[in-house]
Amino acid sequence: MVAQEDVIELAKRRGFFFGANGAYGGVAGFYTYGPNGAAVKDNLESAWRDRFTVRQGNMEIEAPTIMPEAVFEASGHLDGFDDMLVECPECGESHRADHLIEDNTDIEEAESLPVPEVEELIREHDLRCPSCDAELSDEPVEDFNLMFETSIGPGSGQPGYMRPETAQGIFVEFPRLKEYARNRLPFGVTQIGPAYRNEISPRKGIIRVREFTQAELETFIDPEEDEPPLHEVEDVEVTLYPATEQEDEDAEAYTTTVGEAVDEGVIGSEWVGYYLGVAQGWYERVGVDMDRFRFRQHLPGELAHYAADCWDAESEVGGDWIEITGFAYRSDYDLTKHAEHSGESFTVFKQYDEPRTVERATVDPDMATLGPEFGGDAGAVAEALQTIAERDPDAFDADEVEVEVDGETHTVATDVANFSVEEVTENGEHITPHVVEPSFGVDRIVYTVIEHAYRVDEVDGEERTYLALDPEMAATDAAVFPLVSNDDRLLDLADEVTGDLRAAGLSVEYDDSGSIGRRYRRQDEVGTPFCVTVDRDGVEGDDPDTVTVRERDSARQVRVPVGEVADEIARLLDPEEDRAFHALAESHDEIETDVETA
Ligand code: AMP
Repeated sequence: MVAQEDVIELAKRRGFFFGANGAYGGVAGFYTYGPNGAAVKDNLESAWRDRFTVRQGNMEIEAPTIMPEAVFEASGHLDGFDDMLVECPECGESHRADHLIEDNTDIEEAESLPVPEVEELIREHDLRCPSCDAELSDEPVEDFNLMFETSIGPGSGQPGYMRPETAQGIFVEFPRLKEYARNRLPFGVTQIGPAYRNEISPRKGIIRVREFTQAELETFIDPEEDEPPLHEVEDVEVTLYPATEQEDEDAEAYTTTVGEAVDEGVIGSEWVGYYLGVAQGWYERVGVDMDRFRFRQHLPGELAHYAADCWDAESEVGGDWIEITGFAYRSDYDLTKHAEHSGESFTVFKQYDEPRTVERATVDPDMATLGPEFGGDAGAVAEALQTIAERDPDAFDADEVEVEVDGETHTVATDVANFSVEEVTENGEHITPHVVEPSFGVDRIVYTVIEHAYRVDEVDGEERTYLALDPEMAATDAAVFPLVSNDDRLLDLADEVTGDLRAAGLSVEYDDSGSIGRRYRRQDEVGTPFCVTVDRDGVEGDDPDTVTVRERDSARQVRVPVGEVADEIARLLDPEEDRAFHALAESHDEIETDVETA
């Protein structure tokens, strides 16, 4: 297995990512993507946009990253978006109490345990500070809110928060977004952008950071009518690790199909099942190793109180399983909360296919009787009678009916209420949509894709490290190397090839420094799929106007006429075409190389 330190070292050396603000000593949890990392991240986001926005027919928006306090009062983040903090009495280092337990005991999901139990476990296992080994047994565990607070405007301003998830930017705009969707369910809204969490102990490179990128899709559905196109993914094979398996020591994750898992009720929601199937194909596309990937169901204690069924996509990196995406059925929780707090309408008018005649129970109380009898309470008594009519019309079968006003029970003669049932015609009703959400952590997927592509082998007797990135993810499509830098004809040819490749829309790196072997190693380490070398043979030898094209993984090389290079490489990069390098090798002269897998 690849050591995580090796991946992080390569990432820093080759410009994928590195701790930010190094000149000022750096601050934990903030990373800068270098040129290669920024390109891979951009490619990953494009692939996500292609699959989850364009191909799904969804709308993408871009909302502000700072939002007013009221939003997070409504969403529940202000009160409940906490992690458990324990501070070392000796060195002052902050630690996540649940992580200390997970790292030092057999308990896998300590996040869901209550604070007193976590304190007890720290005592019981005599857990110590990972930095200085001081005892933590007597230290209090506190809830620490993860949101970054800021203030909007000058002076004391009004409190604002850096959004801890992109989703809220979609939910709060629902009243307008539903108009863009022509008030018809289901519809989906996506957003890719930064999210901020003041993590207690950021760690492992870009895996747990304080500023990261999310790609989220909120699908708004009518829970009674809308069904996902499950048939599109029912045969997709997935590795599942359901809650029951996690609770049983002898059980493990197993492979099944999306269709079977939904049929058997292992996946509780068809919508969640559908997105697991779609996501599975996407992870494969971007190069996540399916042998190091699974969907893990939330344990009952982990579930948010409003969530019916939640699954995490997890990848195995550095020997640990990490959550790279959360899939949640969020019911109508978010929209209902924003409706309550904002007073705006977060509903959709659901038009019936045909007008429906419904019976509506109603009262028409005789106020001339209620007034003298109940005085100032008469209006409230009349309202209470209407509520009973709607909820329990049978109550009016008796001679008297009891109503409660401000905790006091009053008895009203039924004939005073004038109860009746009317027939009314309705064209539709206002409903609050339910939300199904896949929430992808872009940085963790970028990291996974890099680690899963990390390979070491031997070429021509020398060890080499390369990234077997999917061409769609690679920062550079092709590199062009003029073998020597003092031959104008050769340099002209290299320029011509570079121009042809760029004109074909490919990203090209031109490299004329160092030995050719070193140039190959540099490109191998960043995962460039093809290298084109322009040598003397190509300008004056037996093969005029030819160059060599070398494939990264196999290190095989073939001679290709200059006029064909751009087309051939574009074809090899095109996911819709036959990418097999051997087809190119069969129709061109191959040059011997010796590759051994380490
Ligand atoms: P959550 O809202 O906690 O389910 O997070 C959604 C996704 O965001 C997770 O699956 C992670 O991939 C990603 N994520 C959450 N917290 C962090 C973090 N501190 N650093 C990087 N990615 C994160």
